Amino acid sequence: MNDVAKSRLKVGLDVPWVTSWSGEAVLGVGPCASVGGRLAVRQAERPGFGRPNYSRNHLRRQRLTVARMLCPMCGEPTPEDDRWLQTARRTTAGILRARSFAAALPPALGDDRVVVDAGAIAPCHLACAGRAAAHCPHLQAHTSGELIAFPYAWIVLPLMVRAGPTHVLDSTARPASAVSFLQLCGITTETDRAWRSRAPLTSADS
Ligand SMILES: [Zn+2]
Repeated sequence: MNDVAKSRLKVGLDVPWVTSWSGEAVLGVGPCASVGGRLAVRQAERPGFGRPNYSRNHLRRQRLTVARMLCPMCGEPTPEDDRWLQTARRTTAGILRARSFAAALPPALGDDRVVVDAGAIAPCHLACAGRAAAHCPHLQAHTSGELIAFPYAWIVLPLMVRAGPTHVLDSTARPASAVSFLQLCGITTETDRAWRSRAPLTSADS
């Protein structure tokens, strides 16, 4: 099949390491080491086969970028002094708490604490950020080009999906929840005492 032929584009060079390819089918739910053996949505591993789907990250590779601090561009680990975000926004824990998906923030984190909402995008190396900015039209359209240094502390917020019974005839099987992607929120040491007066984030911002 033409669709799953090996591409001439190189993973990690021409196409980000985390990007999903048309040759990588979603396989359903099962335990996954990327989330410590919890149930997660799995996907075939054939990077470089078919066409890159730039608007969709590969499920397991995305989870690995967040869980192991791997650069989404090249797939190599990022040292803590070389972690940069291109599309993140600085906000506060209180504003994130106002959004339902962020209910997992630890209670001890004060509402006025400045956090860096990275969404589902792990930080990349400075060198890789420069390459991405030069080559990626999507990034050029959606960012100011300003890089945010990722803080030294962070929390991981799993995005959950409901997974149905694995077999329709098994009436004892109850729908379970499974991890799709991992979201990332950096915790700075700064506080913003006027956080209540800041404009709330809308869904269009994220
Ligand atoms: Zn990199």
